Order: sequence, then structure tokens, then C-alpha cells
Amino acid sequence: MTRIAIVGVAGRMGRTLVQAVEQDAGTTLAGGIVEPGSSLVGTDIGELAGLGKVGVTAVDAIETIVDDFDVLIDFTAPQVTLSNLAFCAEHGKRIVIGTTGLNDEELTALDGFRDRVPIVFAPNMSVGVNLTLKLLETAAKALGDEGYDIEVIEAHHRHKVDAPSGTALKMGEVVAETLGRSLKEDGVFAREGQCGPRSAKEIGFATVRAGDIVGEHTVMFATEGERIEITHKASSRMTFARGAVRAARWVAGQGNGRYSMQDVLGLAADRQNL
Ligand code: NAD
Repeated sequence: MTRIAIVGVAGRMGRTLVQAVEQDAGTTLAGGIVEPGSSLVGTDIGELAGLGKVGVTAVDAIETIVDDFDVLIDFTAPQVTLSNLAFCAEHGKRIVIGTTGLNDEELTALDGFRDRVPIVFAPNMSVGVNLTLKLLETAAKALGDEGYDIEVIEAHHRHKVDAPSGTALKMGEVVAETLGRSLKEDGVFAREGQCGPRSAKEIGFATVRAGDIVGEHTVMFATEGERIEITHKASSRMTFARGAVRAARWVAGQGNGRYSMQDVLGLAADRQNL
């Protein structure tokens, strides 16, 4: 049984993660961490998640539960995640990171821990999105150099703080890498005014923020006469939470390293075959 602690347990993902761990036969809830000084310290985390009492109360300092858990699941904010990663490295814990919006410096810092901690880090933990990434590789190989324009469109709820979404960027990266392009050079993240016609190589991004949309992503391959759209729509956060719990079970048996959901799902090995 993998003992799991959840950081940001009062957040949208945190509460869904409590439900997912409770539903999973191979995992048990071992701790929940809220922001320092939060009025929720001492609250049963099952009650936070609308489940009724589960006998685990929220704390605001990870040190107090260091002996209770094996794997930490962190869906919070970049600096919070990096500090928890350092804690896991010091205390021989494993970590599943769903936090998005890390800048280049933060990504480098995260990567610096790969030899000291087993880490699963993925901007999107849903099985469907990770399959979609494989489909995008196939589409990019077939169409990318044949005059098809590539655009990524994403939509999320009004509370989301980073844009474009980590998933949209990942989709763009997969396409760019497959085509030997670079998202840094060919990504176009805003168009306004007299910006001229698009160039052949650019990969455009468009972002919608509205209401309670859980997460929708479309990658469009368009040329004269036809358009192919590969779309994933998440209708519940439970899809991410279940993926994160699956990642936690998987990483419990891994050595130090930085892994993706493609590794967790066994989709990484056959990358060249598609
Ligand atoms: P949210 O704002 O609802 O939750 C974040 C929680 O973190 C809040 O409750 C906040 O109080 C808590 N927090 C902040 N600082 C903390 C600290 N020092 N210690 C403990 N808790 C702290 O946000 P959300 O919608 O749950 O999303 C969280 C992150 O997860 C975002 O980066 C989002 O993009 C990402 N996300 C990833 C996936 C995925 O599949 N990888 C899916 C959905 C969301």
C-alpha cells in the first residue's frame, strides 16, 4: 500500500486528489498540507473533499508528517513545488508534480534533482492527453512538412493563472520536436494589429479563459482544402487526479530520475515506432 501525502490539499486539484486516493485500492491517505497559517489546519481532509471524516487532518508544515508518507503529490505553485522537492530529496521521499507554469530557471532547478529523487513531472496527468501526444507525433510526421499550418488552441476556467496551459505547450513541443523545429523560435503566442500573414514554420497558440471549463485542447493541421483537428476535452478533474495516483503507485517502485506520464503509462519506449 503506497502512503500518499497531498500538498495544496484544499485546492481544486487537492480535494479531487483526496477522492482519487480514497477510491484507489493500492493507496492510502497519509497526510494533507495546506498553506502556512491557513485556517484549515486541523480540518479532516476527507471533509475538505466532501467525503466525511477519513481520520487525517490538514497540517501546514510538511516536517510534522515526514514519517507518515512515501510519495508526495504536489499540485500547487512553482516555488512551493521546488521547496517540497528539496524536502523529498533530503528525506528519501518520492514525488509526483502536476504544477504548471514553471519558468526556465524553475525547470532547470527541478531537473537538478533528477539524480536525488524519483520524480514524475507532467503538465497533464490524464491518460487521454498522453495518448493524444502520441497521436500528435504521428500527425506531425505525416503532415508537418507538407504545407500544413499548425495551431494549438486551449480553453480553461477563469481561475487559471498561467497561459498558455502547460498541456498546450507540451503539445506544441511534441510537434516541434518531431519536425526538428524549436518552440522558442517558431512558437507564436500573440497576434494583434497588422501582424502580417503567418509564416510556414510558425506554431501558433490561442488561449480562452472562461467560466468552469476544466481543460480543452485542439491541435489543428490546416492546409488549402482540408483541416485535421486532434482534440482532447476533460470534463472532470478526476481524470488528472486518477493519473496522478497511478503515477504515485508507479513511482513508488522507481529509482532516482525524472519521469513523465509517458513513462508511467509505458508509452515512452515505442516513441520511434510510431
Ligand atoms: P488551486 O489554486 O485551486 O490550488 C492550489 C492550492 O495550493 C491552494 O489551495 C493553495 O492554498 C495551495 N498552496 C499554495 N501554497 C502552498 C503551500 N506553501 N503549502 C501548501 N499548499 C499551498 O489550483 P488548482 O486548480 O488545483 O491547480 C494547481 C496547479 O496544478 C496549477 O499549476 C495547475 O495548472 C496544475 N494542474 C495540473 C494538472 C495536471 O494534470 N498536471 C491538472 C490540473 C491542474
